[in-house]
Amino acid sequence: MDAKALPYKPNPKLPRQVLPVLQPEVRAKSADEVALGFAEREVSVEAQRCLQCPKPACVNACPLHIDIKRFISRLAQGDPEGAVDVISEQSPFPGVCGRVCQHELFCEDACLIGKKFGPVAIGSLERFAADHARLAKKTLTPGAFPAPTGKKVALVGSGPASLIAAFDLVRKNYRVTVFEALHKLGGVLAYGIPNFRLPREILHEEIARLQNMGVEFVTSFIVGKTASLEELFEEGFEAVFIGTGAGLPFMLGIPGENLIGVYTANEFLTRINLMEAYKADAVTPVRVGKRTIVVGGGNSAMDAARWAKRMGSETIVLFRRGRAEMRARLEEIEHAEEEGIQFHFLAAPVALYGDESGTVREIECIEMRLGEVDSSGRPSPVPIPGSEFRLEVDTVVAAIGQAPNPTLQRVTPQLITKRGKIVVNEAGETSMALVYAGGDVVRGGSTVILAMRDGRAAAEAIDKALSGGPAAAAELPAEVQG
Ligand code: FAD
Repeated sequence: MDAKALPYKPNPKLPRQVLPVLQPEVRAKSADEVALGFAEREVSVEAQRCLQCPKPACVNACPLHIDIKRFISRLAQGDPEGAVDVISEQSPFPGVCGRVCQHELFCEDACLIGKKFGPVAIGSLERFAADHARLAKKTLTPGAFPAPTGKKVALVGSGPASLIAAFDLVRKNYRVTVFEALHKLGGVLAYGIPNFRLPREILHEEIARLQNMGVEFVTSFIVGKTASLEELFEEGFEAVFIGTGAGLPFMLGIPGENLIGVYTANEFLTRINLMEAYKADAVTPVRVGKRTIVVGGGNSAMDAARWAKRMGSETIVLFRRGRAEMRARLEEIEHAEEEGIQFHFLAAPVALYGDESGTVREIECIEMRLGEVDSSGRPSPVPIPGSEFRLEVDTVVAAIGQAPNPTLQRVTPQLITKRGKIVVNEAGETSMALVYAGGDVVRGGSTVILAMRDGRAAAEAIDKALSGGPAAAAELPAEVQG
């Protein structure tokens, strides 16, 4: 039993608390954060909805195994700082994960009261604990960390996979250096997810927590160009983790794709989020016309559509399957709907047409019906012959997925890849000795929390390898060996 725990009576029949948000009319014209977060009143009700199950399924379902039951018990007793201490045992990123983790796929999906009463709003509770600690200027990392003095480990990329690996390794006294290709840290958290979902000061503060623990960050450093993997080893790094993500956007592959006004979500979001292109005085502005069509149904599509709307464009999301098949966080879909973004389901683009200046003016689409379940586990979209239709458009954003960035793999042929993704075993070991990989570079597009799970698994494997004898190249799944 938790030493600080006082008895309280769980009551799952209390109504699930609704996350307060900015009014849709306000946010359609602002880059301010949409979700306002629970107040203490909502937290005390929501925390009491937790049954405090003897074998909490939510903890197992969390890829980081955060002790959800214990942190909620602390919140129920009015101890948010204690709650954040519990979370910090596993993760220094409660502000980030409380905002962007797809809780509905993991902990909230496993919540016992979910089916009958709606799951405990675990994500919003995590966010409350993080924000409370932030306002109270609480030091989040448990224990004091002297400067690490151990063996050197290099992490490539500064997305969630590397960030959690850095947290785990520096706590084990490794000297950790993160090499990031861009000039800003955080991976998709910085260049993909808009600040109206994840304010940058939250991200910066949680990354600074790692810096305070002794993690070194080097920006504008492309591993595979600025230095090779071999050169990192020559520099004295004894293991390398590759968390380079999936930053290579898929193209629509239809006529007219090169017209002016056609973007990939990657370019559109990077320019807006990283270069602040939404501001009137931006050096690299992004202009949206009267009508923007965003193609896709994932988080990138929602983020691009919601930016286009904020920049004054009528915005339509075109998705070749139905709403139930969308991969975006449910909350973002609902927020997009509230903001007046229109959805045209079961339709896909087949061609784009421009005017004499080469600017996109029309999109031709075809209607779809749902067919057999495909490899994505969802019903496949099947074109309906003769159902083509056209819409006027000034801006098109293709948000149909990404593949791993190939820079590092191209110059490192010893790394076995499959369709661009680095092949690893369960522990994250690649085909090269002492080189590990995880996150989107292994999975293709995935989620923040699964990238973190991979980073954690690799950190554990690195520790095992470096604290034991010399490591051999990994046993990889049979179909990719040799
Ligand atoms: P990334 O976050 O992609 O980070 C990789 C980093 O490596 C990048 O900073 C890149 O610049 C750097 N890099 C690449 N090559 C090199 C190199 N050769 N040398 C040095 N550095 C290099 N998931 C959720 O759970 N919730 C969400 O709300 C959500 N929203 C999303 C919104 C968008 C727009 C996108 C694109 C994805 C979203 N996702 C979301 C998915 C999630 O962000 C990713 O699954 C996750 O960020 C993957 O983490 P990662 O560490 O593997 O890679």
